[in-house]
Amino acid sequence: MAPSDTVKVFARLRPSNPEADGPEDVEGGGGGGTFLTPAALEDSDGCFQAFDCTSGELVYQKPGDGGDGMTFRFDGLFGAGATQGEVYQGAARTIVDGVLQGYNGAILAYGQTGSGKTFSMRGPEASTAPESEIGAIPRALSHLLEERERLSKEENVDVSLCVSYLQIYCEILQDLLAPASTNLSVREATDGRVYVQGLSRVPVHSINQCMEILREGDNHRTVAFTNLNAASSRSHAAVIVHLERREPTVGGERGMLVTSTLTMVDLAGSERVKRSGVQYQKLEESKAINLSLSSLGNCVSALAHERSHIPYRDSKLTRLLSQSLGGNARTAILVTLSPGNDLTSENLSTLRFAQRASRVKVSAVRNETVDYATLYQKAQAEVDRKDDSIHALELEVAKLKSQLTECKAERDAAVDKKTAAEAKFQSAEAGYAASLNALQQTSGEDADGSRAVAAIESVNEKWRSEIDTLQKQHEAQLAELRQRMEKQIHAYKSAAAEASQEHAVAEGELTHEREGYLETLTKYRECREQLQQSEKESAARISELLVEKADYEAKEAELVEALESARKTADISLGKASDMAERVESLESVHREQASQISRDYVSREHVEAMERLFKETVERLTNRLEQLEENVPDRQRGRGSEGTRKILSSIEDPRAAAGGAGGGIRRGVRVEPGGGGAARGIRIEPGRLRAGGGGRGAGAADRRRNF
Ligand code: ADP
Ligand code: MG
Repeated sequence: MAPSDTVKVFARLRPSNPEADGPEDVEGGGGGGTFLTPAALEDSDGCFQAFDCTSGELVYQKPGDGGDGMTFRFDGLFGAGATQGEVYQGAARTIVDGVLQGYNGAILAYGQTGSGKTFSMRGPEASTAPESEIGAIPRALSHLLEERERLSKEENVDVSLCVSYLQIYCEILQDLLAPASTNLSVREATDGRVYVQGLSRVPVHSINQCMEILREGDNHRTVAFTNLNAASSRSHAAVIVHLERREPTVGGERGMLVTSTLTMVDLAGSERVKRSGVQYQKLEESKAINLSLSSLGNCVSALAHERSHIPYRDSKLTRLLSQSLGGNARTAILVTLSPGNDLTSENLSTLRFAQRASRVKVSAVRNETVDYATLYQKAQAEVDRKDDSIHALELEVAKLKSQLTECKAERDAAVDKKTAAEAKFQSAEAGYAASLNALQQTSGEDADGSRAVAAIESVNEKWRSEIDTLQKQHEAQLAELRQRMEKQIHAYKSAAAEASQEHAVAEGELTHEREGYLETLTKYRECREQLQQSEKESAARISELLVEKADYEAKEAELVEALESARKTADISLGKASDMAERVESLESVHREQASQISRDYVSREHVEAMERLFKETVERLTNRLEQLEENVPDRQRGRGSEGTRKILSSIEDPRAAAGGAGGGIRRGVRVEPGGGGAARGIRIEPGRLRAGGGGRGAGAADRRRNF
């Protein structure tokens, strides 16, 4: 498992008036620590109260606000006086060294427009700017090229470098080195590598060539104009360096292939679009411009909080940087800050982003594999070399054979010549013998004849010696020819023996090597098959995991929805509960009041019934008495009788009298109210009704109520 590390975050404060000041070497700068301490904060009227490059601590305070301000910690701080070289050495160098070792790297510049991102990454725009002002991207390229030279010379390591240059504007990914290739897609390989499909790669060999490539890409970059900076870009620009490092086979160790990428991004300004004052053609455009940066913020936030879901897929920028953020890469983020007090809130949001980013964990691994391709190429080259030497030996043998044939032909011609000369000599000899005979026959005939014979003999003698000389010459020639031929045959034979011996040795070596290579190839094939198999398995597993992930996401969404509705229900229930609590409270107070009322007014049913009975009997008695009296009274006394009746009735109407009359039948809490005022409570007896007989009594009874 790869060792875990965090994203390294650095901050750089732009000089307050860069046009006038420019970066300059500050006395004592760069000598002691890694980072340069600025001569002055250069922000006395701004939001930075302290900018301590030694401890990496920066104190931010909103101008006009009291208190101690907020402290932010960085892996390094670069003051307004820091040089481009110091920024590269402090923030980027380690990442580039890691890339040379086979670790992926990323360097991002984040900050509001005009704060110095492009200056830090690329350097000033003017081509006449001094070399000391070139930015981190050209410095990294130059560093990589120099190291390539050194590795090739000193360690026999072959490094190849290719460069890509792209921009993302309004979610459209464009290849700046092949501008016709617009709207490219970001894809993920089966091994998890993220790449841009169809993005061109240019092999680079010198820094001048690199600068030319960058200038060409710049010409294609979409630039919008803002109030803040007349040349500020609203697009994200990324330079990607692809490195392949082939290490030689040493002893029995197989050569390794190391691959890595370095992604360097100059992000678009992080300020809110409203703040930049840009008039976008459409709302869609302004949304798309913001999308990548807000997605970047969301991903960084999700990573900082170690959430299970990181929304890389929300934008092309975050997809492209998915490895650099929380993956197989070493990453440095340089946040750029503007001095002065008109941009303080933007500075604060930049600082917050930086703080979250510094909590993001990354785990870079060395990307190396056995260099099978190079091994195969080497084996093939060796086989080809052996084939060539066999072919050369075969040619030599054929040449010797043809020379032998030529020698044989020469020898045959010499033998033929000799035979012809011998035949000529024999015929001359025969002619001579015949001439001699004829002369001997005629020698005795005259002296002239013997002189002639002598002359012929001397001629003959001359011929003979000439023939002898010729014969000797011929024999010498033949002997020399034979000698030469024998020599040549000997040479041919030894060359042929040597050739066949070499052939046999080469054949043996070749067979051995071939077997070795075949074995390597077989292993390579096996490995490839295993790799393919494991790729298939991991692809299947990935698709399973994706399905599971989708399920989990769906479940999560359901749960969130359920939680939301539960929350709503709970809110409603809480509202209801508080209403009910209020109602319960009021009911309880009513209850308490009633309870006290009851305890005050309580009278038992038996008493009421007894009282009712008492009333009934009293009323009946009184009614009977009244009727009786009215019947018995003479007409003249009727007025007085009526007077008596009224007195009786008034005595009945007086509850105290009635109670006294009933012998204490009414107890505590029962009120007998005169008239209708007390109808709601107690018992009311109306005189009219009593007079009306039984019907009146029934109505009187219905009017009686008990209250609790
Ligand atoms: P950004 O890319 O963040 O919008 P620039 O890099 O274009 O900002 O910087 C804005 C201006 O400030 C440019 O003219 C640039 O040359 C200048 N500048 C920025 N940072 C520095 C610095 N550290 N030293 C000198 N000039 C700087
Ligand atoms: Mg810029």
